Amino acid sequence: MELSGRIVTVPASATIAITARAQQMKSEGIDVVSFGAGEPDFDTPEFIKEAAIAALRAGDTKYTPKTGKALQQAIADKLAAENGLAVTADQVIVTFGGKHALYAACQCLLAPGDKALIPAPYWVSYPEQVKLAGAEPVVLGASREAGFKITPDQILAAAKGAKVLLLNSPSNPTGVTYTPEELADLAQAVLQTDLIVFSDEIYEKLVYGETRFVSFASLDERLPERTITFNGLSKTFSMTGWRLGWAAGPEEAIAAMGRLLSHETTNPVSFAQAGALAAYTSPQAPEAVEAMRREFARRGAHLAERLGALGGVECVPPTGAFYCFPDVSAHYGRSIGGIDVTDSMSFARAALEAANVALVPGAPFGEDRCVRLSFATSMEQIDKGMDRLEKLLAP
Ligand code: PMP
Repeated sequence: MELSGRIVTVPASATIAITARAQQMKSEGIDVVSFGAGEPDFDTPEFIKEAAIAALRAGDTKYTPKTGKALQQAIADKLAAENGLAVTADQVIVTFGGKHALYAACQCLLAPGDKALIPAPYWVSYPEQVKLAGAEPVVLGASREAGFKITPDQILAAAKGAKVLLLNSPSNPTGVTYTPEELADLAQAVLQTDLIVFSDEIYEKLVYGETRFVSFASLDERLPERTITFNGLSKTFSMTGWRLGWAAGPEEAIAAMGRLLSHETTNPVSFAQAGALAAYTSPQAPEAVEAMRREFARRGAHLAERLGALGGVECVPPTGAFYCFPDVSAHYGRSIGGIDVTDSMSFARAALEAANVALVPGAPFGEDRCVRLSFATSMEQIDKGMDRLEKLLAP
């Protein structure tokens, strides 16, 4: 069967591929330590589950009008209270995960001939989603030496002829968060251009130490009209399997996304929406989120410290999300565990096959010198995995 030209060049998500291989090894009885997961290891808080169960019991099992005004309003209220953003319920759309919201926005705002600026390292799906809209991804490189952060000058140099800039802070895969001042500087550069900004704020609640999160669109009163803010419940509330995300922005763009989704998915799962409403309105939510954040903070600091202690490994300490993205390129050119390590892919292969440690190669994130380790796993697993890597990498 001949596939469409649109899909033939799209690879499957590399992060999912390594997790699948690690799972296969586990099912064969191999004791794999996995740093691959892009999802919290906690269960969804009980009060959220209860709300969904109650909705099911009450017969909330039908199509819903769009995404339900109550949930859209709760998200608008959250944006006003926590993010300094004033939007109406009609400026919010709820989707099947943040991934789906980003996809819909790409479909509605990008067309063949358009360019989208993507800072690298980037989340693997951004370039593919841009390409699926027929547009061209243009990478703005941010090296480890630059703290994995782009500069205002990079935006200004690349803005001509580009339509969209994708920002993701805190970042997957680097774990880096722009400070409010850095983000304000990027905002001033954006305001000198015609760029529309897609601000992916899905890791907003997971910031560590002195790090303070700010919403990009809140940094200047001229930004809301050219920014779409993306977020979701997967990371904040440990609800990856529920597939709930959202976007908020100018009404015209959100309405267009609504028209697209009316032909694509109709509405997110009815009773899952009830869980989301509880997540955004229950007085129990802040402490549940904070408890998970505290644990991630502890693990992230520990993992970064252990990575920093490995020879030939340089790690920018994570200030957000749940990833470390160490530069391991000093080991390229070596034979490790019988595998010739020349790039991030062969490094990850050596770690998995010779030390039973699953981590994700950096190449699909646009940085071949690095690998990604998720610390959404227990302290015991972190230490066990790091003990193995220490042994594997010993000269
Ligand atoms: N953006 C980023 C940066 C992510 O890391 C992820 C999840 N890996 C998403 C969006 C999408 O998450 P979801 O679709 O589960 O909301």
